[in-house]
Amino acid sequence: MEDRSYRLYDPAMYDFRTAAESYWEASLPGPERLAPLSGSESCDVAVIGGGYTGLSAALHLARDHQVDVRVLEAGHIGWGASGRNGGFCTMAPTKLSTKDLILRYGLEAAKAFFDSQKAGLELALALERDEGIDFDRQGEGVFVVAHQASRFEELETEAALLSGQFGFETEVLPPEEFQRVGHASSENFGALLIRSGFGLHPLKYARGLARAALLRGAKLHAHSRVRDWTRAGGRHLLETDGGRLQARRVLFAANGFTPEGLSPAFDGRTLPVISNIVTTRPLTEAELADQSWRTENPLSNTRTLLFYYRLLPDRRLLFGARGDTSGTPAAGGRMRAWLTRRLGEVFPAWREVEISHFWRGFVCVTRDLTPAVGRLEEDPGVFYGFGYHGNGVNAAPWTGRALARMIAGAGDAETELPEILRGPAPRFPLPALRLWLLRSANLYYRLVKDKY
Ligand SMILES: Cc1cc2nc3c(=O)[nH]c(=O)nc-3n(C[C@H](O)[C@H](O)[C@H](O)COP(=O)(O)OP(=O)(O)OC[C@H]3O[C@@H](n4cnc5c(N)ncnc54)[C@H](O)[C@@H]3O)c2cc1C
Repeated sequence: MEDRSYRLYDPAMYDFRTAAESYWEASLPGPERLAPLSGSESCDVAVIGGGYTGLSAALHLARDHQVDVRVLEAGHIGWGASGRNGGFCTMAPTKLSTKDLILRYGLEAAKAFFDSQKAGLELALALERDEGIDFDRQGEGVFVVAHQASRFEELETEAALLSGQFGFETEVLPPEEFQRVGHASSENFGALLIRSGFGLHPLKYARGLARAALLRGAKLHAHSRVRDWTRAGGRHLLETDGGRLQARRVLFAANGFTPEGLSPAFDGRTLPVISNIVTTRPLTEAELADQSWRTENPLSNTRTLLFYYRLLPDRRLLFGARGDTSGTPAAGGRMRAWLTRRLGEVFPAWREVEISHFWRGFVCVTRDLTPAVGRLEEDPGVFYGFGYHGNGVNAAPWTGRALARMIAGAGDAETELPEILRGPAPRFPLPALRLWLLRSANLYYRLVKDKY
């Protein structure tokens, strides 16, 4: 079949047959075998993408609204960002600062946005409890660490806004206090503790959502990449290598792996950005003491292209950061070396500790730096949810549920959606030059703002 879609990065980033070489994949048995789509089938709602957005939508459509739903996933379930992220179930899915969110959208809209994120955390806990999804929850709250002395002040401003305007419990800790409850490092200039959020095993979460969706009657097809999407006689026709699926409505949930050319409605609206992760071998108690490590909470720092890290339940350090802009295996090798070196510079006592795993994937950025959720104006049978800016562990399952309610026509689901999330995100001007835009932005942040 002719493949009308194309991708921005090296093909190595889209090898749907091969699992990411992540610690998460290595820590679990192989994926459950789910039959690819075959022959001619039909359903009410077809979901493109088997990550948190698509799986949560399928679960809620089947469980709460008794809708006949099928998920088509190009790889195995959770193959994309959902099975390979850092497992920070935190806020918020935007690259705008809290101050800029208020300036652009107003205080009331920002409140509705943060309320939806609090609801996301409650949803994760409800799914853990009610659907029996064991995702190894860890920690209570998250730290943001000032990586330079000059960045401490912005943590105080952020804390005042988050607690004063949005009802979060926060605490600002000078360097020595943070070292007593967090860790020592060459980049500790104080920290902000937000007592919301936790760490989890992302692939267990994705597989748990899939299992719950199957139990409630949703049908899931792995290794079923949608290669063609047409519309005829009021129905959508999705074609994969092995089959054809007719559906009355479609939910597009491919996020950072969104193919260009599959649907003109979504072309040029996403900017996939590579994020890389390394994990160390398990650290001994003595090694942890060398860096005064005391926290189970996930942490990130104040760089725009941030470092994110956490100690995993088996005492490995997970350390993640931005990537390159080509996606070639050679560039991946260089990123692994760079990340290993930077880990050793931030935590000097662990400079020589072996790296056990390295992997990467796409986070999804939009032009207005906020998520894109809703229904297409030009085709009301098409729904979408993407663009979580590296913070989708909390936001994407919530979005999936919101979309399920919208698709099922429940209550005021469409008008209830916070304004900041609503709409398809503006197209990038000159979409073919997106990676050049990213290269320029990376250079600016590295040399001027973040000072790597
Ligand atoms: C390395 C890394 C670290 C991250 N760390 C964090 C973190 O710690 N905390 C956090 O909140 N967020 C993090 N994120 C982001 C988070 O993982 C995502 O926001 C979230 O998983 C998005 O879920 P999704 O279902 O929308 O997309 P995805 O999980 O990416 O799912 C989209 C799916 O669509 C499939 N697909 C694409 N094209 C087709 C097609 N044509 N046909 C069928 N299927 C198709 C893909 O195979 C993919 O599985 C990280 C992301 C990465 C890559």
